[in-house]
Amino acid sequence: MSGRGPDGVARDLPELLGTLRAFAIPMRTRFRGITVREGALIRGPAGWGEFSPFAEYGPRESARWLAAAVEAATVPWPAPRRDSVPVNVTVPAVAPGRAHAIVAASGCRTAKVKVAEPGQAPGEDAERVAAVRDALDAAGPGGRIRVDANGGWSVDEAARVLRSLEKYGLEYAEQPCATLEELAALRRLVDVPVAADESIRKAQDPLRVRAAGAADIVMVKVQPLGGVRAALRVAEACGLPAVVSSAVDTSVGLAAGVALAAALPELPYACGLATMSLLEGDVTAAPLAESGGSLAVRRPPVDDAALAAWETDPEPWRRRALAAARHLADVPGTLH
Ligand SMILES: [Mg+2]
Repeated sequence: MSGRGPDGVARDLPELLGTLRAFAIPMRTRFRGITVREGALIRGPAGWGEFSPFAEYGPRESARWLAAAVEAATVPWPAPRRDSVPVNVTVPAVAPGRAHAIVAASGCRTAKVKVAEPGQAPGEDAERVAAVRDALDAAGPGGRIRVDANGGWSVDEAARVLRSLEKYGLEYAEQPCATLEELAALRRLVDVPVAADESIRKAQDPLRVRAAGAADIVMVKVQPLGGVRAALRVAEACGLPAVVSSAVDTSVGLAAGVALAAALPELPYACGLATMSLLEGDVTAAPLAESGGSLAVRRPPVDDAALAAWETDPEPWRRRALAAARHLADVPGTLH
């Protein structure tokens, strides 16, 4: 990208946004409170990029998501260090029988189990985790379980439930409490490693997480952090092990997550990139779907016939991208 007009928008952005296509794909299971995943795709000399900030994000926050899409469309990915990345199966806050079936049907040896669902009793978490442990063990030794509370527990609740889950063997607990102070307090009470997810939405956040002693592990997502290169810098500056995760993207966004996971110097944990199965469909003919517990490092192109099934009016998304573009200059380290 080169140059910037008087309104702060990069000069060749309008051309890039001329390629914009919008999609709305139903979700198989309600996730993060949404039932349809909506977003946009742009195409540039390097390929396709995904711009899919959640509906509640305004232009300033969406600018990082746009920076990620522009990077994907305009510059090649950093050199990969591996040709496949291990991924986890995600188990929503479902009944134990369903949880067992989801894990049994997956080739993944790591399961991420959603816990602390509003309206459910703590006993339901334990039953779900127990079912997941059974399913993993039935396929052989070495299966790993991580739980994700999405910040839903108080410190006391988290300590109590995590201790009760210890017998199932927990790899880590993702965002057990909402605030950095709570996470830091919890870490002093339990042995299970703590991972920060919702606490990390901007490039500065991992450094704050580390300074607060709030986590042992950081979740990194390409779109919220402003691109693959920005996320690599964040992971490096933070100095904690990083787990690459998606924002429930199509295969276009997942390819950026895979590129990040492939480029990280170390990748000690399975990534949260096997989220294609949460969507009813995809925009490519060869979705980045998990096989044998991993994703190949590749970049499937958008397929017109696949996209046609989910395509929606691009105008609202073009307007949203233009509004976000006015804040691109504030995204640290982008190419604009
Ligand atoms: Mg999470």
